[in-house]
Amino acid sequence: MDIEVLEMAERKGKFILKNSSPAMANALRRTMLSDIPKMAIDKVEFHLGPIMVDDKEYESVTPLFDEIIAHRLGMVPVPTDYELFTFQDECVCGGEGCPSCTIMYSLNKIGPCTVLSGDMVPLGNPDLKVKDENIPIVELTDGQAVLIYATAVMGTAKKHVKWQAAFGVGYKYLPMITIDPKKADDPDVLNVIDLCPRHVFAEKKGKLTVENSYACSLCNTCKNATNGAVSVKGDDTNFLFTFETDGSLTAKQVLDKAVEILSEEAKELAQQVESL
Ligand SMILES: [Zn+2]
Repeated sequence: MDIEVLEMAERKGKFILKNSSPAMANALRRTMLSDIPKMAIDKVEFHLGPIMVDDKEYESVTPLFDEIIAHRLGMVPVPTDYELFTFQDECVCGGEGCPSCTIMYSLNKIGPCTVLSGDMVPLGNPDLKVKDENIPIVELTDGQAVLIYATAVMGTAKKHVKWQAAFGVGYKYLPMITIDPKKADDPDVLNVIDLCPRHVFAEKKGKLTVENSYACSLCNTCKNATNGAVSVKGDDTNFLFTFETDGSLTAKQVLDKAVEILSEEAKELAQQVESL
């Protein structure tokens, strides 16, 4: 798989999939959306009954149902390290839960306050503290408290969206824009600089030039306005991808993992075909 990276930030990426096919581009998109493993909170235990803090008794109640709090905790992006963790059912512990397949967090707060994702304290490795610390979970009034133990395990978005690492994964055919050189200095043709909604064109030495072809959305405004002096076509062998992550993995980790998964699947298919 031939990939040219255009932009790779912590949580955002842009790249070109080269010399490929629409089927492969879609396979890559779907793999990024639903097959990338990540950690997410899957089990939440609530302490019931009074909670004593400094001789004051707090009630373990909140304005939200426990189910809603559990769901909100599930959606908090949990840092994922493939070196440290594996799927629980493939773990050496046999699925019982151990430091190689689970992360335990405790959440211990008394009101009045807003409980935030940053209040989740990882038991053990402090590097596993969540990166987005300002996601509100629940608001407590005076006399209310929560004492929660939450367990994160690895999963994929095939089972639940809380295990989805990549978001807004989209691609388009790479725009190919050609300008008729004989008409490039025509005032009507130069007019497309202002007409183009994506600001793809510029003027150089009195002639129309393509400044930023990747921004083109193939809307054909330029083609229609210039009677074909400018033509635009989508290249169905090269694809411009953009995507974001939720922060549990970096954009580079998501792309690397997606390519790894697709290569493994291709190898497996080839083996099966060979054995027929
Ligand atoms: Zn384990």
